[in-house]
Amino acid sequence: MSAKSSSDKHKAILLICDGLGDRPSIDDGKTPLQAAYTPNLDELSASGINGLMDVISPGIVPGSDTAHLSLFGYNPYRYYPGRGVFEALGADMELHKGDVAFRANFATVDDEMQVIDRRAGRKGSKELAEILNGLEIDGVKILLKNTTEHRCAVVMKGEQLSRYVSDVDTHEAGGFVQECKPLKNGEAERKTATIVNKFVRMSYELLNDHPINAERRQKGELPANIILLRGAGSYVDVTSMKERFGFSAACVAGASLYKGVAKYLGMHVLTVEGATGKADTNLHNKVEVALNALEEHDFVFLHVKDTDNNGHDGNFEGKKKTIERIDEELVARLKDTDAYIVVTGDHSTPVSIKRHSSDPVPVVIKGDGVRTDEVNKFDEFSVASGGLNRIRGIDLMPILSDFMGYYKMYGT
Ligand code: ZN
Ligand code: ZN
Repeated sequence: MSAKSSSDKHKAILLICDGLGDRPSIDDGKTPLQAAYTPNLDELSASGINGLMDVISPGIVPGSDTAHLSLFGYNPYRYYPGRGVFEALGADMELHKGDVAFRANFATVDDEMQVIDRRAGRKGSKELAEILNGLEIDGVKILLKNTTEHRCAVVMKGEQLSRYVSDVDTHEAGGFVQECKPLKNGEAERKTATIVNKFVRMSYELLNDHPINAERRQKGELPANIILLRGAGSYVDVTSMKERFGFSAACVAGASLYKGVAKYLGMHVLTVEGATGKADTNLHNKVEVALNALEEHDFVFLHVKDTDNNGHDGNFEGKKKTIERIDEELVARLKDTDAYIVVTGDHSTPVSIKRHSSDPVPVVIKGDGVRTDEVNKFDEFSVASGGLNRIRGIDLMPILSDFMGYYKMYGT
């Protein structure tokens, strides 16, 4: 297979390992990436150009959503529509300009509206979701889809809606369901908050005594008796990557957020059997789909989530093992294609602090014509002396698209 479409145009794969970057461990001062055995990543570093990357800008702690926008060349301060939009797009819901979308959960509350479990025992119900799907409140149509486990996406369609409303989800058990409040002093914000509050109340009334929940209680399970909303977003049309850079882009990801970001930017989201966004994900299928996608597309975004999950869990060994799996199952297959290969993370998720941090992430680009440097190990420390030095996430796509032959000259 030739990965080149014509003599002056080249293809590329961007592998993003979520939350890849880390800090030195207290035991031996090594990061999981340093401690991991990664002969294939090291080979990429030795034959490529390396550096550190501030995905948004130095000192800014990125969310995965804003980080990915930046990596695809879209300034998140200008293009971030709010998380709910990506969640709904990732769930294959259709969005139009002006629609407001939310992340949502089935949850368990008592009759005082105190949250017993904000995930309803991690068990949703497609049947209960159908009861709430298509409700109309004050002239606004509400669509709801149960995606995985307790998770849902909600879309509101109607006039004068706003994303500037507060979360209903308390984010912890024992708290009370919060009232949704307008975050700006405007008609649309007040209207949206009112509808959210009515919808949450209605979800409780329709779900609490439903036979499915009676059955769950009988079996000793938590009832899914309310929907809690958070992360409001407002859909807008953006210039697609194809229009912007001139190449056709495809996405290979398991977790819905990343598929949603890809869809938002006009990428083709490919289906991969066994891609789950978790530890059990099928990396073999993902890499095969990504390599095949190069036949039809110029740019393939390949995402692996589990590095970030291990960071959040504070699991050093788990993160190290995931990196070794990526090296063995993905990078070993990728490294010999003719396409440009870029490997990086969307932010650091240090196991020592179990959250995202602003520590820059390592990045390597391998392919025709790159100025190779002295770096021969892919980790946070080694790449610091590489030829890319220190770039921002938003610089990555312009650099890569120039290598790929899709450049626009500035001036004459
Ligand atoms: Zn992330
Ligand atoms: Zn994370």
